[in-house]
Amino acid sequence: MRLAPFQLHRPTELQAALTLRAQFGDDSAYYAGGTELLLALKARVLRYEHLIDLKRIAGFDRLALEGNELVIGPLVTHLRLATDPLVRERLPAYAALSNNVGNIRVRASGTLAGNLCFSEPHADPPALLCLLGASLTLHGPDGERRVPMAEFILGPFTTARADDEILTAIRVPLPAADEQLSYRSFGHLEYPAVGVAASYQMQAGASRYRVWIGCIGDHPIHAESVEAALAGVPPGALADVLPQAAEAMASELPATDDIYGSADYKQHLAAVFIKRAVLDSAGVGAR
Ligand SMILES: Cc1cc2nc3c(=O)[nH]c(=O)nc-3n(C[C@H](O)[C@H](O)[C@H](O)COP(=O)(O)OP(=O)(O)OC[C@H]3O[C@@H](n4cnc5c(N)ncnc54)[C@H](O)[C@@H]3O)c2cc1C
Repeated sequence: MRLAPFQLHRPTELQAALTLRAQFGDDSAYYAGGTELLLALKARVLRYEHLIDLKRIAGFDRLALEGNELVIGPLVTHLRLATDPLVRERLPAYAALSNNVGNIRVRASGTLAGNLCFSEPHADPPALLCLLGASLTLHGPDGERRVPMAEFILGPFTTARADDEILTAIRVPLPAADEQLSYRSFGHLEYPAVGVAASYQMQAGASRYRVWIGCIGDHPIHAESVEAALAGVPPGALADVLPQAAEAMASELPATDDIYGSADYKQHLAAVFIKRAVLDSAGVGAR
């Protein structure tokens, strides 16, 4: 189907973009890579008379370290995150995740900010960003606010962003030098059916694991019961504890039957990928 006609606005400053949104209201939407938006417009799922292109706004392509945080601007694509030397060196697990998003065309045009704002429930980034304690900076008519990543996604295609707010930065605290991260996902469609982020670190002489599950349920899920079961368990002893903890957690996930598989199948996948991500983060090797 062809795109319905719309007027394209190309502001070069944040304030001008906000003013355009105020002028055209719900007849307008922000537009970055267009990989989700243009498909939805073509399918007539969404209809806007005005698109406010963010691509010419100065500074929106920023990708830099600020103190201990990686600051990712709204025009930074998955491809850039996969290939940027800073990300590859300081957050290799995140670079690897980005390298597996969709296909090369989606990675080259699609932005991380667009991914988060669209809030497709099967997206890869949210689980790992939650684990890392990322926060999102939103600019609206009343100024700026920050929202923790773990509170941003409210449900399928629904976020804490007000319609007129622009996501201007994703701030990702770098993990400690000795914290090892892993992200594992699996699916037979374009998006994953399940994604699991895990980390391992020795803290005060004891093993500490962190685990978040994505793509199942309405928003990323913090696997606190798995973390509690594994606390203090050395990597070499994971085989005694991890399978039971992963299976108990997976059986309680709010999985539903859909095109990604039956609820039972998704819970099975979650148990398998919790185990693989945890083992991988602990350097034991995924089984
Ligand atoms: C074939 C295909 C396969 C894919 N596979 C995967 C996958 O495996 N894993 C995965 O995680 N994702 C996947 N995706 C999703 C992909 O990551 C997103 O399409 C992309 O990141 C969206 O970014 P964009 O810049 O194109 O957003 P756009 O399409 O431009 O915008 C998406 C939405 O966000 C809003 N928006 C964009 N930027 C901002 C901003 N800065 N502030 C406020 N609102 C904004 C727009 O108004 C729109 O509602 C896939 C997509 C496709 C089409």
